[in-house]
Amino acid sequence: MTKDEIILASREYLFPSVFHYFSEPLVIERAKDQFVWDADGNEYLDFFGGILTISVGHSNEHVNAAVHAQVDKLQHVSTVFATEPQAALAKKIATLTPGNLRQSFFTNSGTEANETAITLARCFTGSSEIIALRHSYHGRSALAMAITGNAAWKTGPQMQPGIVYAHNAYCYRCPFGLSYPDCGVRCAQDLEELIRTTTSGRVAGVIAEPIQGVGGFITPPKEYFKIVADIVRQHGGLFISDEVQTGWGRTGNKWFGIEHWDVTPDIMTSAKGLGNGFPIGVTIARPEVAESLKGLTISTFGGNPISTTAAKAVIDLIEEQKLATNAADTGGYLRASLEELQRKHSLIGEVRGMGLMQGVELVEDRKSKTPAVKQTLRIMEAARDNRILIGRGGLYGNVIRISPPMNIQKSDVDEFIRRLDASFGSLQ
Ligand code: PMP
Repeated sequence: MTKDEIILASREYLFPSVFHYFSEPLVIERAKDQFVWDADGNEYLDFFGGILTISVGHSNEHVNAAVHAQVDKLQHVSTVFATEPQAALAKKIATLTPGNLRQSFFTNSGTEANETAITLARCFTGSSEIIALRHSYHGRSALAMAITGNAAWKTGPQMQPGIVYAHNAYCYRCPFGLSYPDCGVRCAQDLEELIRTTTSGRVAGVIAEPIQGVGGFITPPKEYFKIVADIVRQHGGLFISDEVQTGWGRTGNKWFGIEHWDVTPDIMTSAKGLGNGFPIGVTIARPEVAESLKGLTISTFGGNPISTTAAKAVIDLIEEQKLATNAADTGGYLRASLEELQRKHSLIGEVRGMGLMQGVELVEDRKSKTPAVKQTLRIMEAARDNRILIGRGGLYGNVIRISPPMNIQKSDVDEFIRRLDASFGSLQ
C-alpha cells in the first residue's frame, strides 16, 4: 500500500476513535534501535518508544532471536497446559519484585492486568470499594475506565459505583494551594477524610501509578505513597501499584517505580516495557493474596509462549546490560539538559519525572501557569518536522512526555535536545 492508501484505509475501515497524533497521521514503516522511519523514508529519533513500551530498542536482535526460535517450537496451547516460557518468566519476575510479590497472572495488556488486580483486591478483602487517584489512567475496559481519574479518557456513559477519587500529588498545581514540604503532604493525608466521608469505611484498596503517565508524568514527593498505603491498610485495603509505565528499570536504578518511595505494594501490575512491543500484561501478588482469586478464570492468550519468551529476553537484557543504571545516568543527563532548555524557553513551566521518564509542562506564563495547549500542539508538529518523536499528556494536554528506549546514550540525548530546542525556537 502507498502512504496515501494506508491513511485512506485507516480512515475508512478503522473506528474513528482510533487515536492518532497529528491531523494527518504519521505513517511509520519500520524501526531499529532508537530510530524509526516513515513511509517517505525519513528517519526519526524515537524519544517516546511507542508509549514507554520500547525498553530495549526497536526490533532488538536478542529478543527477536528468542521469539523466532519460539515461534518455530510452540506458539499456543492456552494456559490449561503448562509451558516452560510462562513458568520461566514467572520465576524470573519473582526474583525481581519487592517483598513477597511472588506469583504472577499473565494477560495481554495493562488494562487486563488492572482488571485482574481490582478483582483480586475485591476477592481478598471482601469489599468492592476502590480508591483511584485523580489524573490517573489505568486502561480502556469498563472497569479500567472507571478507575481512571481523567475525564477525557472515559469514553461513553460511565458506571462507577464503589469508586472514589483521591487527590494526586500534583505539586505544580497543588489542589490545596500549598507548597511542599510545608504542606505536610496534605493531599495524602486527605485520604483518611475521603474514606471516612465517602465509603463504608472498609475498602478493597487503592490503585496508583508511582508516576502518573498519561496524567503528564506527575511525580509525588517522597512521603506520599507511604502515607497513602498506611491509611488504606488501616481501613482493611490493599495498595496496588500500577507499574505499566514505571516498571522494568524505566525510572532508574530500581526495577519498579514504587521502590523509590520505599513502599511494598500488595499487588503490582505491569505491561508495556515488559514485552518491548509484544503484547503482555501481568498482575503480581503475594501468595496469600493470589490464592483468594477463586472460581474459574482464564485468559486464552495470557502467558502465551511467544509473549512470555519475549518478556524473559527483555528482562535478561535489562539485567545484563544494566539498563536501569543507564536509565538513571542517561536520564539524569536528559533531565539536566531539559532544565537548561527551561532556562532558555519561558514556555517550559516545569520539568519532572525520574530516569528516562521525563515530562515537560508547558504554560502560557510561569506566574498564571495557564496550560499552553495550542503551543504544545505546535511543538508536537515542529518536533515531527525536526524528526524527533515525543509524546503528549496531562489533564490539559500540555505536557510533553519523553521516554526513549533505555539503552540510549548521552550522544542521543544531545541530538534530541538540539532538535527539541530547534522546535521550541521555531515557535517564536
Ligand atoms: N496503566 C497505565 C499506567 C497505562 O499507562 C496504560 C496505558 N497507557 C494502561 C494501564 C493500559 O494499558 P494497555 O493500553 O496495555 O491496556
